[in-house]
Amino acid sequence: MDDLRQLYQETILDHGRRPRNFGAMDDATHQADGYNPLCGDKVHLYLKVNDGVVEELKFEGQGCAISTSSASLMTEALKGRSVQEARDLFARVHAMLTGKQLDDMAGKLGKLAVFEGVKKYPLRVKCATLAWHTLENALAGGGEVAKTE
Ligand code: ZN
Repeated sequence: MDDLRQLYQETILDHGRRPRNFGAMDDATHQADGYNPLCGDKVHLYLKVNDGVVEELKFEGQGCAISTSSASLMTEALKGRSVQEARDLFARVHAMLTGKQLDDMAGKLGKLAVFEGVKKYPLRVKCATLAWHTLENALAGGGEVAKTE
């Protein structure tokens, strides 16, 4: 295993074990549930959006290391971004996980690039995108449970 892959692996394990922004939020403006039946991952996402900017994100739930670390890294990546930037970033993450190339991808993905290796494992892609699908539902304001299917 080369150094970069090892770093990616360590980041995923670290965020899986000690997820950032984990817990409930009292004054959320948007929230949604997500469920990935193939793996059993569950996530509940809270957002505080003010003036088109995602000011705070928190999540609760239980899942595998990939889904937990993906939610954790997503909350870090989106804090302080506009809703439009959040959607753009999801498009990039989705493209990365499905093996598509976008312009200047790596530069925009930052730490989220750690999930690149997941694209080789289609079942795990659903674990990695669960938090993002849940984000989309929360932003759309729907009370529906986001499913990866
Ligand atoms: Zn999973």
